[in-house]
Amino acid sequence: MVAPTAAVRLEVYDRDQWCCVSCGARDQLQFQHRRRTGMGGSRIEVAVADGLASCPTCNPAYEHEMQTAALFHGWKVRSWVKQPELVPVFYVPEMSWWRLTVTGERYELSPARVGAFMAEVYGEEWEAWGDRLRELGVFR
Ligand SMILES: [Zn+2]
Repeated sequence: MVAPTAAVRLEVYDRDQWCCVSCGARDQLQFQHRRRTGMGGSRIEVAVADGLASCPTCNPAYEHEMQTAALFHGWKVRSWVKQPELVPVFYVPEMSWWRLTVTGERYELSPARVGAFMAEVYGEEWEAWGDRLRELGVFR
């Protein structure tokens, strides 16, 4: 696994306002790789859009009990996605969707644009994850 540089880690935590994107916790933040790592060859710029601030509870859960939610909300990205910056991210502390840039900024997206971006990357699979989460009662 390739560890992010200290600079990338700081950039990601700053962008994410020093709280876990999926629960808002501020303690013991961890650098969360949106893509499964070990693929090699990623540029440093990509690492910024590929990283999120996460907490020790949420981070491991993205691969397990929170997997569908993590994919739907952009906290995890399918390993074949070459440009993680194309997959919007839902920030629970702000209850809003954002697009990440390769240079460490983010900008807010309307729900309609989120749907368009997700459809472009994942096709109908993204809607299916949403349906699954509604079945599970994850959405209030
Ligand atoms: Zn968390």
